[in-house]
Amino acid sequence: MAKMNVKPGIVTGSQLQEIFEYCKETKCALPAVNVISSSSINAAMLSARQANAPIIIQFSNGGALFNAGKYLDNTNERAAVAGGVAGAHHIRILAELYNVPVILHTDHCARKLLPWVDGLLDAGEEYYRQTGKPLYSSHMLDLSEEDLEENIATSAKYLERMAKIEMTLEIELGITGGEEDGVDNSNVDSSRLYTQPEDVLKAYDVLKPIGNFTVAASFGNTHGVYKPGNVKLRPEILKQSQELVRKERGLSQEKPLDLVFHGGSGSEVAKITESLGYGVVKMNIDTDTQWAYTRPVREYMDKYHDYLMAQIGNPEGDDKPNKKRIDPRAWVVEGEKGMAERLVEAYKNLNSFGQFDLG
Ligand SMILES: [Zn+2]
Repeated sequence: MAKMNVKPGIVTGSQLQEIFEYCKETKCALPAVNVISSSSINAAMLSARQANAPIIIQFSNGGALFNAGKYLDNTNERAAVAGGVAGAHHIRILAELYNVPVILHTDHCARKLLPWVDGLLDAGEEYYRQTGKPLYSSHMLDLSEEDLEENIATSAKYLERMAKIEMTLEIELGITGGEEDGVDNSNVDSSRLYTQPEDVLKAYDVLKPIGNFTVAASFGNTHGVYKPGNVKLRPEILKQSQELVRKERGLSQEKPLDLVFHGGSGSEVAKITESLGYGVVKMNIDTDTQWAYTRPVREYMDKYHDYLMAQIGNPEGDDKPNKKRIDPRAWVVEGEKGMAERLVEAYKNLNSFGQFDLG
């Protein structure tokens, strides 16, 4: 099958659905990387250029706030909204120079954070009025801690608003284990870490008539990286969900759902590969790319330790200046390269490396 051609820039509307369809046909998925600053955004876009594939760039609430500046007053999520809007404009302006398509997304949003997504949607609707395009490709709501009915009803309300400006909604059914961005699910009952296919069918029935959505279904996946053996991944849950929806609704489409794999960091490659066959189109990766950014920075600090003790004086002489080594650009770029390299590895694990035509 011919490689899918995708133009550089922010991917929105039906084009996003076409990309996910192509991913399911070719059994590949795109990495979704959490970013916090222009530095990690640029590293993400660099990796997409190297992999010749679109990238999913996402802000968590904490990431968006950090992009604005952690020390700002965040009453009513105003700094996190501004950080998310600023990040979106940064990416929109630069994606074409990097020559990469970007799916721009926000990560987990629990009920208490809804004012954040509300603010981003206000900005998105305003941008849509001006340009005919939404600011973001998609947002995620994570109401998985609530009753299924409440989760689906609130998701439906948001999807109605988002569909009008050609956006896609990501929902979560079942709970992703572990701890991320201040949400600690490391002690929840393990049965809740596995989504019931019947719940997926319920969500499908309500959301499908409204607009486009993806489902983060839990199959034992966990945020963070833990000792091997602590996490029992059961990707067959994803397969069962696809089959139930197809059978019950008499669909000809083999994989009617676009599925999202949260907690991709530290996952066994064999389980990742298996999940690709069941319609996973997006895999979130955060902890592994955090490590890939921090590790080379630490190596730099170790390597040039004796050049970083003072502004003047190093092993080459007491009067030698250290300006070149002190310049933050010298070590930030090492973090960026490390992060991009890890993302290229993720593309390879997800079978999307070289899978697209970006010409
Ligand atoms: Zn997640």
